[in-house]
Amino acid sequence: MSVLYKRVALIGLGLIAGSMAHAMRRAGLAGEIIGTARSADTRAVAAEIGLCDRVGDTAAEAVAGADLVVLAVPVGAMGRVAEGIAPHLAPGTTVTDVGSVKKDVVDQVGPHLPEGIHFIPGHPLAGTEHSGPRSGFAELFQDRYTLLTPVSDSDPEAVARLRALWEGMGARVEEMDAEHHDLVLAVTSHTPHLIAYTMVGVADHLRRVTESEVIKYSAAGFRDFTRIAASDPTMWRDVFLSNKEATLDILGRFTEELFVLQRAIRMGDGDALFDYFTRTRAIRRGIIEAGQDTDAPNFGRNAAKKGSNDG
Ligand code: NAP
Repeated sequence: MSVLYKRVALIGLGLIAGSMAHAMRRAGLAGEIIGTARSADTRAVAAEIGLCDRVGDTAAEAVAGADLVVLAVPVGAMGRVAEGIAPHLAPGTTVTDVGSVKKDVVDQVGPHLPEGIHFIPGHPLAGTEHSGPRSGFAELFQDRYTLLTPVSDSDPEAVARLRALWEGMGARVEEMDAEHHDLVLAVTSHTPHLIAYTMVGVADHLRRVTESEVIKYSAAGFRDFTRIAASDPTMWRDVFLSNKEATLDILGRFTEELFVLQRAIRMGDGDALFDYFTRTRAIRRGIIEAGQDTDAPNFGRNAAKKGSNDG
């Protein structure tokens, strides 16, 4: 594949930026990759493992001369990072991000960027519960969706080039409006994470009664919850604080549905439970048919596939 950007600056060197570095290298999409992170420890690890061609000490240094800048820090830090790099961006540079929430990132970042910068927010729907510069891998985005949320006056050529970058990293790319993105993600990712966090918290309370049995007899459903609930606390704190409206909306609907099921159980209404579970089973079929998960038993764990959740 051909080089799409002469110099890519990765701001933040965790799971997503690290995976991008590996994937861009594998496909030869960037002439040069410069990275930087907030802490000297992360920068030292990135340099030691050769994650980028060069590791800069500051974000200002990393973005100098870049034609693509990727903001890959927690959502709550995007505005401050954008403010810091803004004076050092050359006209014509594309600035994108990988944050799990889009409307709040647009509101935080947009006002800081000078005229002549192409700001095209993005979000790869791929992740694991691991974080940090050692956690990235080139296949993370393979066959997963990346959603771009360009604004109406975004330069079509700049959007097309960013789309080609994600496709070159193996992703399927779609475009949508930032607010719609946040609602969709509240349903498919943010609220499910909150439920997983809650369920593991409930089990932890219960553990005091059952001693170690919750861990010892941990069945697949609960184990999946614990994996999701092991996700990075900073990232998820920021997701809920910045996607507040949509998450609260979906959580309200979830609570109503939970009461419906609770009532069906209390009333011994087997037909209602059966009908409900039949409908949800059909949704699972749809996810498999869309190629977003495997039909193999136990989520294909026996094939030692790397787990994938999404932010
Ligand atoms: P990560 O592995 O925890 O890495 C985060 C990076 O951001 C680190 O380099 C960290 O620097 C830096 N950072 C943290 N707080 C900062 C701050 N206040 N100011 C400046 N830099 C800061 O995170 P990640 O999983 O790659 O997530 C990065 C972004 O991708 C987030 O916006 C997240 O919402 C989004 N995302 C994540 C997933 C997922 O499943 N993980 C999926 C899709 C999108 P230090 O190491 O020096 O602290």
